[in-house]
Amino acid sequence: MTVEIICVGTELLLGNIVNTNAAYLAEKCAGLGLSCYFQSVVGDNEERLRQTLLCAKDRSDIIILSGGLGPTEDDLTKEVAAKACGRELEVDDHCMERIAEYFAARDITPTENNWKQAMIPKGAMYVDNNNGTAPGIIIQEENTHIILLPGPPNELVPMFEESIEPYLEKLTPGVIRSRTVKICGVGESAAETRIKDMIDSQTNPTIATYAKTGEVHIRVTASAEDEKAAEKLIKPVVKELKSRFGSAVYTTEEKVTLEEAVVELLSKRGMTVTCAESCTGGLLSGRFINVAGVSDCYKSGFITYSNKAKRKLLGVKKTTLDKYGAVSAQTAEEMAKGAAKAAKADVAVAITGIAGPDGGTKEKPVGLVFIGCNVKGKVTVEKFQFKGNRAKVREAAVSAALELMRRCVLEN
Ligand code: ATP
Ligand code: MG
Repeated sequence: MTVEIICVGTELLLGNIVNTNAAYLAEKCAGLGLSCYFQSVVGDNEERLRQTLLCAKDRSDIIILSGGLGPTEDDLTKEVAAKACGRELEVDDHCMERIAEYFAARDITPTENNWKQAMIPKGAMYVDNNNGTAPGIIIQEENTHIILLPGPPNELVPMFEESIEPYLEKLTPGVIRSRTVKICGVGESAAETRIKDMIDSQTNPTIATYAKTGEVHIRVTASAEDEKAAEKLIKPVVKELKSRFGSAVYTTEEKVTLEEAVVELLSKRGMTVTCAESCTGGLLSGRFINVAGVSDCYKSGFITYSNKAKRKLLGVKKTTLDKYGAVSAQTAEEMAKGAAKAAKADVAVAITGIAGPDGGTKEKPVGLVFIGCNVKGKVTVEKFQFKGNRAKVREAAVSAALELMRRCVLEN
């Protein structure tokens, strides 16, 4: 079956927002075994949206639209879709109730135009929105399924996962299932080389690698009659990947991030953690705080950008800074020691480096980063030379710090 994605919004055309919904929906649809041949972006314009939709109806089995379901004048996706399918809009009692509940729970009085969101095309299905007021809508025609989703990603994504994915699964014969083996501390080409034979001989399941900053994700995808059969195909391949990459595999769960895996590891061992950051200025702490429930292991962290701060908050020696410089293995080591002591933490990770664009020299070029990891008094320092702009260097340093920390804790 073919699917087509239409994202609605003048903001998208102007480049004011990035079309993350299209990427998300396309990836999801591919995972469901649907072929996506067309994606379009159209502004909040009735005629152009109508034309785009009619064209899509001619050539695709499933059309997913995102955006323009809001209460305001410029939100016209539902109106256009209803017209294009020759259907009237009518008030739906259930949607009415949901909207009333939404506002009551927040103690807000809805405005007149909010009730517009309770109108759905005659004979269409509504899809509950648990994170906003606009319901999703599915219009089933003889040969086409038209699915309308709200634009905000925090509404679209959960709605897709809760309701649309199961709906689409029923439309497609058989199932497509995938598992992602996530590894850290191994580069993409090294990872690919280690599984080249598996990639070369793949049929079902297929194996594909995706490079992320400091990580490689290997996706194993099987198509089969049912869930059980797909699992049976995937299992031995995942097992083989795990045996080839060993402890570099930090998870085989799609949703688990590196920071979540690290926090889980620390929690399991009853260890507390702290971060001392120079060039990353809190990014590493930010990654930790991304994890819900991190409070068990993370109590405090340090942003020590200046030499003075490194001395005052972490006890880095003046002689060390004078002799080796702030960006040095020695400073990283003292930062990791000082942070563990000051925060009374079992594990301390310290990052010091040159993020650029200025400040590099021949001996210490932009992208040079030292990361120190202190696990119960045993300090490991590693030197990295990252490529890219300031943001890239900082992001790479954070990923490397998480990887180093994971490795040091596992070895402890
Ligand atoms: P609202 O009720 O908020 O008006 P809506 O369904 O009408 O929702 P839009 O008005 O099109 O959706 O977009 C609302 C916001 O959702 C945008 O400002 C943007 O932040 C986000 N958004 C919309 N479309 C996309 C997209 N394709 N990719 C990423 N974000 C999007
Ligand atoms: Mg809107």
